Amino acid sequence: PTHKEPPRIHRLDEAVVNRIAAGEVIQRPVSAVKELIENSLDAGSTAISVTVKDGGLKLIQVSDDGHGIRYEDLPILCERHTTSKLSKFEDLQSIKSMGFRGEALASMTYVGHVTVTTITKGQLHGYRATYRDGIMEHEPKACAAVKGTHIMIENLFYNMTARRKTLQNSADDYPKIVDLICRFAIHHMSVSFSCRKHGAGRADVHSVATSSRLDAIRSVYGLSVAQNLMKIEASDSDPSSSIFEMDGFISNSNYTAKKITMVLFINDRLVECGSLKRAIEIVYAATLPKASKPFIYMSIKLPPEHVDVNVHPTKREVSLLNQEVIIEKIQFVIESKLRNSNESQTFQEQR
Ligand code: ADP
Ligand code: MG
Repeated sequence: PTHKEPPRIHRLDEAVVNRIAAGEVIQRPVSAVKELIENSLDAGSTAISVTVKDGGLKLIQVSDDGHGIRYEDLPILCERHTTSKLSKFEDLQSIKSMGFRGEALASMTYVGHVTVTTITKGQLHGYRATYRDGIMEHEPKACAAVKGTHIMIENLFYNMTARRKTLQNSADDYPKIVDLICRFAIHHMSVSFSCRKHGAGRADVHSVATSSRLDAIRSVYGLSVAQNLMKIEASDSDPSSSIFEMDGFISNSNYTAKKITMVLFINDRLVECGSLKRAIEIVYAATLPKASKPFIYMSIKLPPEHVDVNVHPTKREVSLLNQEVIIEKIQFVIESKLRNSNESQTFQEQR
């Protein structure tokens, strides 16, 4: 057999490295929307609106009324690892913001064209800047602006042919984007969210700020969901081991659906937890077999040191310290709630 000579090893160009990394952080249009909304939430916004064209491949726009971005910071805004949210590694332990690694905006500039318009409090006009490959293309231009920040991503994946083709051939991301915004809207109920297709008069999601969770769920998922929900709560404060608080809404025996909807926030982060979801499905299948695809909204609060937020930005799946104990407790609470409501219903029917 002929032995090939070993190939030479060389350093990749920074531009190649950055584009590969960016493609991991921003896997699809919905990942860009998630990052932009989290930035708007981190900026203390009370209204966030999203516009999408071609499932986000042509255009994604997110406008907010948050604190805006300083003029002096615009030149480095979209460089990799520039952030206002983290300074020392130790800060991660107690971080309240959703972002911290300063990679999202940078990544978008490596795989799309980014335009930022922003105005800070007390300014007479705003500034607009455009970015490519991490770099601000020109001096920011003064422009009219309303409070907050407006970010536009155009031609996502224009330089990643394979990714663009795959996305164009599959169903577009618009339904995923709508679903994402519905989830944020019911958790962040003091923020109003809207989402529409570019050029459409009507919004597909439109939530109004409210102080009632049930109202928030009604305005987003409709009356048919909201009227079949029950409140649940649980806590477990054993100072020696796990400390957690949970509250939420779960569907009753009248709610039927083709698949489970599980909206889960842990310490105000939108996450997924497969083992918790399966555990809840098991309880429903055993207790309410006819309504075994429930709607679940759940917010769990844990001591920050019990959750590792420093996983890869796209990994929404989390694992928790004392996970088994927490899951058992939640299963117990849900099961008692379902049994009680079932019994009171049977009781009413018998009367
Ligand atoms: P991270 O959120 O991890 O800090 P990003 O790349 O998402 O990194 O954003 C970089 C920085 O840009 C943020 O730290 C924040 O200071 C600023 N920024 C981004 N989006 C907004 C926004 N909508 N309003 C105000 N500031 C923003
Ligand atoms: Mg961010």
